[in-house]
Amino acid sequence: MIRIYTSEQFIDTFIRSKNKAKSLSDDTLKIAKQVIDQIRLHGESALKEYVQKFDGYLPLNWEVTEEERKQAWSKVDGETITSLQKAADNIKKFHSKQIQQSKIMELTEDIISGQLYRPIESVGIYVPGGTACYPSTVLMNAIPAVLAGVSEVTMTTPVREEDSIAPILSVAADIAGVNKIYKIGGIQAIAALAYGTEQIVPVDKIVGPGNKYVAAAKSIVFGDVGIDMIAGPSEVAIIADETASPKYVAADLIAQAEHDENARTFLFTTSEKLINETKIEIVKQCEKLPRAIIAKKSLSTQSASVLVSNIDQAIDLVNKLAPEHVEIQLDNPLLYLSKVKNAGSIFLGSYTPEAIGDYFGGPNHVLPTSGTARFSSGLSVDDFMKKTTYLYYSERALCDAALHVVNIASEEKLIGHARAVQVRLGND
Ligand code: NAD
Repeated sequence: MIRIYTSEQFIDTFIRSKNKAKSLSDDTLKIAKQVIDQIRLHGESALKEYVQKFDGYLPLNWEVTEEERKQAWSKVDGETITSLQKAADNIKKFHSKQIQQSKIMELTEDIISGQLYRPIESVGIYVPGGTACYPSTVLMNAIPAVLAGVSEVTMTTPVREEDSIAPILSVAADIAGVNKIYKIGGIQAIAALAYGTEQIVPVDKIVGPGNKYVAAAKSIVFGDVGIDMIAGPSEVAIIADETASPKYVAADLIAQAEHDENARTFLFTTSEKLINETKIEIVKQCEKLPRAIIAKKSLSTQSASVLVSNIDQAIDLVNKLAPEHVEIQLDNPLLYLSKVKNAGSIFLGSYTPEAIGDYFGGPNHVLPTSGTARFSSGLSVDDFMKKTTYLYYSERALCDAALHVVNIASEEKLIGHARAVQVRLGND
């Protein structure tokens, strides 16, 4: 099922040719642009038309009422609520340490400079609801926004047939501190959040995953509002040696592969025995998997096992790949932490499956994919903050700096800039 590659074959197949972020098709972008333009132009009437068209159901009201939110708690079992609350506690604890403070850089009688660190005022969180239900998406996106101090956190998710969203999403939204929930999905939700309608209040930034239509819509509204990222298929790279358990390695590869047919799973190991035993385990474990068809497709078309001569070579390939998730299933995994330079998130040791990070451990699960971990990072409190710098110069300080400003401005042939300084010193 999972094919074996040499390191050269791996680089050719997965890094040189396939590691580019998947671009959105022209057809999808065309549909998204048409829907967005209509909603921008016609507001509510166009929003209703497209919700009916793409979801086949028009909710009675866009917003989930207080009463519906209260009732949702009785529809979710107590143990699941406890698990969500414990996960939320861990996510809050981790993300609260990310909060930075405003800084003064210089403070003298003549010069004051600094940087204000302040929250974005309003954020919209897209929670996918087409084929499955993701309460973890609510926690991972909303908690950092709330911790950043965003005053209006709005969530949106599609509804079908019944006039309510999945109760567990509503409970997760309450636990995370979401202010408002809309029953809208797809392109129309992104358009409504970006530009507003008679009933929908627009936001400053939109975050959260979604299908290709949601991704296309986010890419179009970017610039008018902020967005987090356009995520590609999910990925895991496991670095392991002969001490790793084939059962654990197989389970983690399958956990990634069941996301979707395009999910990418990689095993880099010094042990041929581990490769062979992992293969056998994958077949065994897929037998009991409800999403076996999806997992098998991903494992047979988007995955690789690479036999390396030593662990440094494995790490080198992982750094070239820059995957979303890296698992280090080696003795003393901490020894290798600093060597993995390009990764969204790193999971250390045989008892830290990626699944613990997906739901519970604390770090965010919204991570860069498709090699973008070379230059970008996972979602954090920072994504919900803005940095604004400020500067004060006294007359004396301006006088001291004037010559240098005029010199540089003159070189750039921006004489107006030079004059803005000279005029204040009576030299013009
Ligand atoms: P979704 O909510 O993203 O999309 C459903 C919406 O798509 C519908 O409401 C409808 O309006 C729109 N739509 C469907 N067909 C359309 C068409 N032909 N034309 C225009 N609009 C159309 O839910 P989904 O489809 O289940 O996709 C969820 C995606 O999110 C999956 O790819 C999943 O893997 C991903 N996901 C990622 C993460 C993560 O953290 N990276 C987490 C959860 C889900």
